[in-house]
Amino acid sequence: MLYQQIDMELAEREAWALRRQKGIPNNRRLFVLACMDERLPVEEALGIRLGDAHVYRNAGGLVTDDVIRSAMLTTNFFGTKEIIVVNHTECGMMTATGEFLTNALREKGIDPDSVAIDPALPELKLPPGVFPKWIRMFSDVDEICLKQVELLRNCPLIPADVQIHGYVWEVESMRLRRPGVRLAEKVNTAKAMGAKG
Ligand SMILES: [Zn+2]
Repeated sequence: MLYQQIDMELAEREAWALRRQKGIPNNRRLFVLACMDERLPVEEALGIRLGDAHVYRNAGGLVTDDVIRSAMLTTNFFGTKEIIVVNHTECGMMTATGEFLTNALREKGIDPDSVAIDPALPELKLPPGVFPKWIRMFSDVDEICLKQVELLRNCPLIPADVQIHGYVWEVESMRLRRPGVRLAEKVNTAKAMGAKG
């Protein structure tokens, strides 16, 4: 009967709209932390769709205080059981040091030590000189990916049974890989192929 189909669609729409009120988790019980880079299509990279995950993107895909806040909420209160971190090759976060950027801000007339890092929470202050670290520039995408997983795993605000993994998105191949594993390096030379004789 048509009314059954309509009623089912209405029920689905209600469940979608009232997910948080009804305590319905996202489809995959998943929290994703990824870089904001325009070459990283998070949903496509992970094979997920609208409704599947809580997705947090920032410069670098790095564990900052607000990532902890969001991960804490979704894993403790919204039914999330898995976290995936996605960093990527040729990340802008590898193009300078924090000190270089801090000096560049000073040259623009901005004093990073006197600026509120969170205007809505002025109590949150950085000790003098910490601003360059706060920017979190890095020098190795594989290392930084493993580090983000470790930071999340060791965070007391995230339940110990949450599965946490990290991957590197290669902008050059538009594919995911495990941190530290580069297939391209294994196929281009006889030495890498373990040639005999
Ligand atoms: Zn990036």
